[in-house]
Amino acid sequence: MSFEHVSFAYRQEEAVAQALVLRDVDLRIGQGELVAIVGHNGSGKSTLAKLTNGILTPTEGTVTVTGIDTTDEARLLDIRQTVGMVFQNPDNQIVATLVEEDVAFALENLGVESSEIRRRVDWALETVGMSAYARHAPHKLSGGQKQRVAIAGVIAMRPRCIVFDEPTAMLDPVGRAEVMKTIAQLHREHNITVILITHHMNEAALCGRIVVMNEGKVLLDDKPAEIFKAYDQLHEVGLSVPQTVELTHRLGLGGAPALSVEECASALYSWVMEAGQLA
Ligand code: ADP
Ligand code: MG
Repeated sequence: MSFEHVSFAYRQEEAVAQALVLRDVDLRIGQGELVAIVGHNGSGKSTLAKLTNGILTPTEGTVTVTGIDTTDEARLLDIRQTVGMVFQNPDNQIVATLVEEDVAFALENLGVESSEIRRRVDWALETVGMSAYARHAPHKLSGGQKQRVAIAGVIAMRPRCIVFDEPTAMLDPVGRAEVMKTIAQLHREHNITVILITHHMNEAALCGRIVVMNEGKVLLDDKPAEIFKAYDQLHEVGLSVPQTVELTHRLGLGGAPALSVEECASALYSWVMEAGQLA
Protein backbone atom coordinates (compact mmCIF):
# COMPACT_ATOMS: atom_id res chain seq x y z
CA MET A 1 0.00 0.00 0.00
CA SER A 2 1.31 3.45 -0.70
CA PHE A 3 0.39 7.04 0.06
CA GLU A 4 2.13 9.47 -2.28
CA HIS A 5 1.96 13.13 -1.30
CA VAL A 6 -1.56 12.67 0.02
CA SER A 7 -3.50 15.67 1.29
CA PHE A 8 -7.11 15.60 2.33
CA ALA A 9 -9.85 18.10 3.21
CA TYR A 10 -13.36 17.08 4.25
CA ARG A 11 -14.84 20.12 2.58
CA GLN A 12 -13.41 19.76 -0.88
CA GLU A 13 -14.72 23.10 -2.13
CA GLU A 14 -12.69 24.84 0.59
CA ALA A 15 -9.54 22.80 0.26
CA VAL A 16 -7.37 25.66 1.41
CA ALA A 17 -4.41 25.04 3.67
CA GLN A 18 -6.38 25.54 6.92
CA ALA A 19 -8.98 22.93 5.97
CA LEU A 20 -6.45 20.18 5.27
CA VAL A 21 -6.64 17.41 7.85
CA LEU A 22 -3.88 15.46 6.09
CA ARG A 23 -0.90 17.22 4.58
CA ASP A 24 1.52 15.69 2.15
CA VAL A 25 1.48 12.22 3.71
CA ASP A 26 4.01 9.88 2.14
CA LEU A 27 3.94 6.27 3.37
CA ARG A 28 4.81 2.91 1.89
CA ILE A 29 3.64 -0.15 3.77
CA GLY A 30 4.91 -3.51 2.55
CA GLN A 31 3.08 -6.85 2.59
CA GLY A 32 3.37 -8.48 6.02
CA GLU A 33 4.33 -5.35 7.95
CA LEU A 34 2.89 -4.61 11.40
CA VAL A 35 2.67 -0.83 11.66
CA ALA A 36 1.27 1.27 14.49
CA ILE A 37 -0.11 4.73 13.86
CA VAL A 38 -0.21 7.04 16.88
CA GLY A 39 -1.04 10.69 17.39
CA HIS A 40 -3.26 12.79 19.63
CA ASN A 41 -6.98 13.25 18.90
CA GLY A 42 -7.65 15.05 15.66
CA SER A 43 -4.22 14.39 14.16
CA GLY A 44 -5.83 12.65 11.18
CA LYS A 45 -5.45 8.94 12.01
CA SER A 46 -9.04 7.88 11.26
CA THR A 47 -9.04 9.96 8.10
CA LEU A 48 -5.87 8.17 7.03
CA ALA A 49 -7.51 4.81 7.80
CA LYS A 50 -10.52 5.65 5.60
CA LEU A 51 -8.21 6.57 2.74
CA THR A 52 -6.63 3.10 2.74
CA ASN A 53 -9.64 1.38 1.20
CA GLY A 54 -11.43 4.06 -0.71
CA ILE A 55 -14.02 5.05 1.92
CA LEU A 56 -12.40 8.46 1.30
CA THR A 57 -10.21 9.46 -1.64
CA PRO A 58 -7.37 12.02 -1.57
CA THR A 59 -7.89 15.70 -2.29
CA GLU A 60 -4.34 15.67 -3.64
CA GLY A 61 -1.88 12.85 -4.22
CA THR A 62 -2.49 9.15 -4.73
CA VAL A 63 -3.29 6.11 -2.60
CA THR A 64 -2.64 2.72 -4.17
CA VAL A 65 -3.46 -0.73 -2.84
CA THR A 66 -1.61 -3.63 -4.52
CA GLY A 67 -1.01 -1.22 -7.38
CA ILE A 68 -4.67 -0.19 -7.72
CA ASP A 69 -5.49 3.50 -7.40
CA THR A 70 -8.28 3.89 -4.80
CA THR A 71 -10.04 6.39 -7.09
CA ASP A 72 -10.57 3.60 -9.63
CA GLU A 73 -14.27 2.96 -8.96
CA ALA A 74 -14.38 -0.13 -11.13
CA ARG A 75 -11.88 -1.76 -8.73
CA LEU A 76 -13.45 -0.59 -5.47
CA LEU A 77 -14.70 -4.05 -4.58
CA ASP A 78 -11.20 -5.51 -5.10
CA ILE A 79 -9.77 -2.79 -2.88
CA ARG A 80 -12.35 -3.38 -0.13
CA GLN A 81 -11.61 -7.10 -0.21
CA THR A 82 -7.86 -6.48 -0.06
CA VAL A 83 -8.01 -4.02 2.85
CA GLY A 84 -10.39 -4.88 5.68
CA MET A 85 -11.25 -2.48 8.44
CA VAL A 86 -12.07 -2.91 12.13
CA PHE A 87 -13.39 0.07 14.07
CA GLN A 88 -13.44 1.19 17.68
CA ASN A 89 -17.01 0.40 18.68
CA PRO A 90 -17.80 -3.33 18.45
CA ASP A 91 -21.55 -2.66 18.82
CA ASN A 92 -21.65 -0.64 15.60
CA GLN A 93 -20.14 -3.53 13.67
CA ILE A 94 -22.71 -6.16 14.59
CA VAL A 95 -25.35 -6.71 11.94
CA ALA A 96 -26.90 -10.12 12.68
CA THR A 97 -28.56 -11.92 15.58
CA LEU A 98 -26.25 -14.94 15.58
CA VAL A 99 -22.45 -14.80 15.67
CA GLU A 100 -22.02 -17.09 12.65
CA GLU A 101 -24.54 -15.10 10.60
CA ASP A 102 -22.70 -11.96 11.50
CA VAL A 103 -19.40 -13.39 10.26
CA ALA A 104 -21.11 -14.65 7.07
CA PHE A 105 -22.83 -11.34 6.30
CA ALA A 106 -20.34 -9.76 3.89
CA LEU A 107 -19.67 -13.07 2.14
CA GLU A 108 -23.39 -13.53 1.52
CA ASN A 109 -23.60 -10.05 0.06
CA LEU A 110 -20.78 -10.95 -2.30
CA GLY A 111 -22.70 -14.01 -3.45
CA VAL A 112 -20.07 -16.51 -2.26
CA GLU A 113 -21.28 -20.10 -2.56
CA SER A 114 -22.82 -21.45 0.67
CA SER A 115 -20.42 -24.37 1.30
CA GLU A 116 -17.53 -21.93 0.87
CA ILE A 117 -19.22 -19.51 3.28
CA ARG A 118 -19.51 -22.34 5.85
CA ARG A 119 -15.82 -23.19 5.49
CA ARG A 120 -14.69 -19.60 5.79
CA VAL A 121 -16.95 -18.79 8.74
CA ASP A 122 -15.73 -21.87 10.64
CA TRP A 123 -12.12 -21.01 9.86
CA ALA A 124 -12.54 -17.34 10.84
CA LEU A 125 -14.25 -18.15 14.16
CA GLU A 126 -11.61 -20.76 14.93
CA THR A 127 -8.84 -18.27 14.15
CA VAL A 128 -10.19 -15.65 16.58
CA GLY A 129 -10.98 -18.30 19.22
CA MET A 130 -14.77 -17.85 19.05
CA SER A 131 -15.94 -21.20 17.57
CA ALA A 132 -17.78 -22.09 20.77
CA TYR A 133 -19.95 -18.99 20.34
CA ALA A 134 -21.02 -19.59 16.71
CA ARG A 135 -24.71 -19.90 17.64
CA HIS A 136 -24.71 -17.29 20.40
CA ALA A 137 -26.28 -13.84 20.23
CA PRO A 138 -23.53 -11.25 19.56
CA HIS A 139 -25.07 -8.58 21.79
CA LYS A 140 -24.63 -10.81 24.84
CA LEU A 141 -20.87 -11.17 24.37
CA SER A 142 -18.19 -9.16 26.17
CA GLY A 143 -16.58 -6.23 24.35
CA GLY A 144 -13.45 -8.23 23.58
CA GLN A 145 -15.51 -11.12 22.23
CA LYS A 146 -17.63 -8.81 20.07
CA GLN A 147 -14.50 -7.24 18.66
CA ARG A 148 -13.12 -10.70 17.86
CA VAL A 149 -16.37 -11.52 16.03
CA ALA A 150 -15.94 -8.29 14.04
CA ILE A 151 -12.38 -9.41 13.21
CA ALA A 152 -13.70 -12.82 12.13
CA GLY A 153 -16.13 -11.09 9.74
CA VAL A 154 -13.22 -9.21 8.21
CA ILE A 155 -10.79 -12.14 7.90
CA ALA A 156 -13.55 -14.30 6.35
CA MET A 157 -13.09 -12.01 3.31
CA ARG A 158 -9.44 -13.09 3.22
CA PRO A 159 -7.96 -9.58 3.10
CA ARG A 160 -4.21 -9.11 2.68
CA CYS A 161 -4.28 -6.12 4.98
CA ILE A 162 -6.40 -5.09 7.96
CA VAL A 163 -6.60 -1.58 9.34
CA PHE A 164 -7.61 -1.49 13.00
CA ASP A 165 -8.82 1.95 14.12
CA GLU A 166 -8.38 2.00 17.91
CA PRO A 167 -9.86 -1.51 18.25
CA THR A 168 -9.20 -1.71 21.99
CA ALA A 169 -10.26 1.81 22.98
CA MET A 170 -13.66 0.74 24.35
CA LEU A 171 -12.51 -2.51 25.96
CA ASP A 172 -11.53 -3.46 29.49
CA PRO A 173 -7.99 -4.77 30.09
CA VAL A 174 -9.05 -8.40 29.50
CA GLY A 175 -10.78 -7.55 26.21
CA ARG A 176 -7.81 -5.44 25.18
CA ALA A 177 -5.41 -8.31 25.76
CA GLU A 178 -7.65 -10.75 23.84
CA VAL A 179 -7.86 -8.45 20.84
CA MET A 180 -4.14 -7.65 20.83
CA LYS A 181 -3.33 -11.36 20.98
CA THR A 182 -5.63 -11.97 18.01
CA ILE A 183 -4.07 -9.14 16.01
CA ALA A 184 -0.53 -10.36 16.69
CA GLN A 185 -1.52 -13.87 15.66
CA LEU A 186 -3.12 -12.73 12.38
CA HIS A 187 0.08 -10.97 11.54
CA ARG A 188 2.41 -13.77 12.62
CA GLU A 189 0.56 -16.85 11.40
CA HIS A 190 -1.36 -15.53 8.41
CA ASN A 191 1.07 -12.92 7.09
CA ILE A 192 -1.67 -10.29 7.11
CA THR A 193 -0.40 -6.73 6.87
CA VAL A 194 -1.61 -4.91 9.97
CA ILE A 195 -2.06 -1.20 10.44
CA LEU A 196 -2.91 -0.60 14.08
CA ILE A 197 -4.14 2.84 15.09
CA THR A 198 -3.86 3.10 18.84
CA HIS A 199 -3.34 5.53 21.70
CA HIS A 200 -1.84 2.82 23.88
CA MET A 201 1.90 3.24 23.49
CA ASN A 202 2.54 -0.21 24.92
CA GLU A 203 0.53 -1.65 22.00
CA ALA A 204 2.50 0.45 19.52
CA ALA A 205 5.73 -0.80 21.11
CA LEU A 206 4.81 -4.35 20.01
CA CYS A 207 4.74 -3.34 16.33
CA GLY A 208 7.67 -3.43 13.93
CA ARG A 209 7.22 0.21 12.98
CA ILE A 210 5.52 3.28 14.42
CA VAL A 211 4.21 6.23 12.44
CA VAL A 212 3.60 9.31 14.58
CA MET A 213 1.00 11.72 13.18
CA ASN A 214 0.76 15.33 14.24
CA GLU A 215 -1.61 17.94 12.78
CA GLY A 216 -2.18 15.86 9.67
CA LYS A 217 1.48 15.25 8.96
CA VAL A 218 3.81 12.32 9.49
CA LEU A 219 6.10 13.54 12.28
CA LEU A 220 8.13 10.35 12.82
CA ASP A 221 8.26 6.98 11.07
CA ASP A 222 10.69 4.43 12.48
CA LYS A 223 11.22 1.32 14.61
CA PRO A 224 9.82 1.59 18.19
CA ALA A 225 13.28 1.79 19.77
CA GLU A 226 14.12 4.81 17.59
CA ILE A 227 10.71 6.46 18.08
CA PHE A 228 10.98 6.33 21.88
CA LYS A 229 14.43 7.92 21.80
CA ALA A 230 12.57 11.03 20.58
CA TYR A 231 11.12 11.29 24.11
CA ASP A 232 10.99 15.10 24.24
CA GLN A 233 9.51 15.43 20.77
CA LEU A 234 6.74 12.95 21.66
CA HIS A 235 5.91 14.87 24.83
CA GLU A 236 5.77 18.12 22.85
CA VAL A 237 2.99 16.69 20.67
CA GLY A 238 1.08 15.33 23.66
CA LEU A 239 2.12 11.69 23.43
CA SER A 240 3.39 9.53 26.22
CA VAL A 241 5.87 6.66 26.01
CA PRO A 242 5.33 3.16 27.45
CA GLN A 243 5.79 3.06 31.22
CA THR A 244 8.90 0.92 30.81
CA VAL A 245 10.49 3.61 28.62
CA GLU A 246 9.32 6.34 31.01
CA LEU A 247 10.93 4.66 34.01
CA THR A 248 14.32 4.03 32.43
CA HIS A 249 14.26 7.54 30.97
CA ARG A 250 13.50 9.20 34.34
CA LEU A 251 16.25 7.24 36.03
CA GLY A 252 18.59 8.43 33.28
CA LEU A 253 19.67 4.87 32.51
CA GLY A 254 20.61 5.68 28.89
CA GLY A 255 20.95 2.89 26.40
CA ALA A 256 18.13 1.65 24.15
CA PRO A 257 14.57 2.39 25.38
CA ALA A 258 13.07 -0.57 27.29
CA LEU A 259 10.18 -1.78 25.11
CA SER A 260 9.02 -4.53 27.43
CA VAL A 261 8.86 -5.29 31.14
CA GLU A 262 11.70 -7.80 30.62
CA GLU A 263 13.96 -5.21 28.99
CA CYS A 264 13.09 -2.73 31.71
CA ALA A 265 13.88 -5.25 34.46
CA SER A 266 17.17 -6.10 32.85
CA ALA A 267 18.15 -2.40 32.53
CA LEU A 268 17.21 -1.85 36.19
CA TYR A 269 19.19 -4.90 37.27
CA SER A 270 22.33 -3.70 35.49
CA TRP A 271 21.85 -0.24 36.96
CA VAL A 272 21.46 -1.54 40.52
CA MET A 273 24.47 -3.82 40.15
CA GLU A 274 26.58 -0.98 38.79
CA ALA A 275 25.47 1.36 41.59
CA GLY A 276 26.31 -1.38 44.11
CA GLN A 277 29.82 -1.70 42.75
CA LEU A 278 30.35 2.05 42.94
CA ALA A 279 29.32 2.30 46.60
P1 ADP B 1 -7.99 11.17 14.75
O1 ADP B 1 -8.55 9.86 14.30
O2 ADP B 1 -6.50 11.22 14.77
O3 ADP B 1 -8.56 11.63 16.05
P2 ADP B 1 -9.55 12.28 12.57
O4 ADP B 1 -9.01 11.77 11.29
O5 ADP B 1 -10.79 11.67 13.09
O6 ADP B 1 -8.39 12.27 13.66
O7 ADP B 1 -9.83 13.84 12.42
C1 ADP B 1 -8.90 14.74 11.83
C2 ADP B 1 -9.57 16.11 11.70
O8 ADP B 1 -10.63 16.01 10.76
C3 ADP B 1 -10.18 16.62 12.98
O9 ADP B 1 -9.95 18.00 13.05
C4 ADP B 1 -11.65 16.32 12.84
O10 ADP B 1 -12.43 17.26 13.52
C5 ADP B 1 -11.86 16.45 11.33
N1 ADP B 1 -12.92 15.55 10.84
C6 ADP B 1 -13.02 14.22 11.07
N2 ADP B 1 -14.09 13.69 10.45
C7 ADP B 1 -14.70 14.73 9.83
C8 ADP B 1 -15.88 14.84 9.01
N3 ADP B 1 -16.63 13.77 8.72
N4 ADP B 1 -16.19 16.08 8.53
C9 ADP B 1 -15.43 17.15 8.82
N5 ADP B 1 -14.32 17.11 9.57
C10 ADP B 1 -13.95 15.93 10.07
MG1 MG C 1 -9.76 8.44 15.23
